Amino acid sequence: MSNFTPAKPISYGRQTITEADIAAVTAVLQSDYLTQGPKPPEFEAAFAQYIGSRYASVVANGAAALHLCAMALDVKPGDKVLTTPITFTASANCVRYCGGEVVFSDIDETTYLLDIHKVRALLEKTPKSERSAYKGVVPVDFAGLPVDMAAWRELADEFGLWILEDACHAPGASFTDKQGIEHRAGDGSLADLAIFSFHPVKHIATAEGGAVTTNNPKYHDRVSTLRTHGITRDPAVLEENHGGWYYEMHELGYNYRLTDMQAALGIEQLNRAEEGLKRRRAIARRYEEAFAGTPVTVRPVPLGFRHAYHLFVVEVAKRRELYDFLRARKIYAQVHYIPVHLQPYYRQFGWKRGDMPFAEAYYDRCLSLPMYPALTDEEQEYVIEQVLSFFDKPVLP
Ligand SMILES: *Cc1c(COP(=O)(O)O)cnc(C)c1O
Repeated sequence: MSNFTPAKPISYGRQTITEADIAAVTAVLQSDYLTQGPKPPEFEAAFAQYIGSRYASVVANGAAALHLCAMALDVKPGDKVLTTPITFTASANCVRYCGGEVVFSDIDETTYLLDIHKVRALLEKTPKSERSAYKGVVPVDFAGLPVDMAAWRELADEFGLWILEDACHAPGASFTDKQGIEHRAGDGSLADLAIFSFHPVKHIATAEGGAVTTNNPKYHDRVSTLRTHGITRDPAVLEENHGGWYYEMHELGYNYRLTDMQAALGIEQLNRAEEGLKRRRAIARRYEEAFAGTPVTVRPVPLGFRHAYHLFVVEVAKRRELYDFLRARKIYAQVHYIPVHLQPYYRQFGWKRGDMPFAEAYYDRCLSLPMYPALTDEEQEYVIEQVLSFFDKPVLP
């Protein structure tokens, strides 16, 4: 065992801030606009280009992005929307903001993603007269592994559903479809809308922040208008025009804007996104190699999929003991996620333990190990050593 001990706790994820980031934010503070200036549109153009979508709208956070999408998709009371229980609660909450009903469906036990076969079975066994209540699906690119959006598009078209992709974990991830075409997560080629978060544990940090991407101009306009109070100045849609100051509010929107300081930080972070992704993939390779043949299970990435490694998830027996063991050694691993259907808020709708056997079994065993570009080799080796020592295994080279 090495005698390295971390100076401060090693968390499961954290941001990287450079001198260039600080300079960019400082420059905005010294400029004319702290918000509603040039930086958010500049960030939107750069982000859309990186993701490969026609449009991007930057917003206050990922949950706001989800809320605006649910509004743009006209989710209403009585509407049913499908999602996975293994996600952050926000993926489901957006449906509730609009009064819709969340229908959870179980995960695939090896990819941890919403299982498309189970969703198909659920829709098929629903009597035709009740099927029309199902309006959409919110698949989540969990941990950074993108869903097979070509398969989801096919299912959605067959059952008349829209698709809102929660791509918070997956900027830069991709999969190759049967025709050999590569689709990047959130690129607008298959899903109707996609959302991202710029929370500091995610790939791109703006403190709080998020984005909506789409190729559909109608959705883009709706999201952009709802983001700023539902107010428009577009001469093409104004009912009247009283002069240069004039605007109209056509529907009830919110103030979900991103500030110029945040957008400036986002632009700098985006410039390093590919570099960060490369580092995340290298860290993943090292974990995979170190845990091969040990009691620490790492699921393989399916062929044709490029993982973005927001999280590095392992499955272990005695997860609670390992969590505490690592914590005592300054390694702050984390659990992603407590199944959303078991949250007290969702239990009130009748969801209970036993409803999602794969998600619940996964929850008993999962642990997210430190994964972020600034994690040093020395820190990672320390993490590996500690994890294996818990299982009383020698560390292999
Ligand atoms: C982080 C996250 C969100 C919410 O993003 P915030 O910016 O924290 O509001 C939504 N969905 C998933 C899967 C996330 O990881």
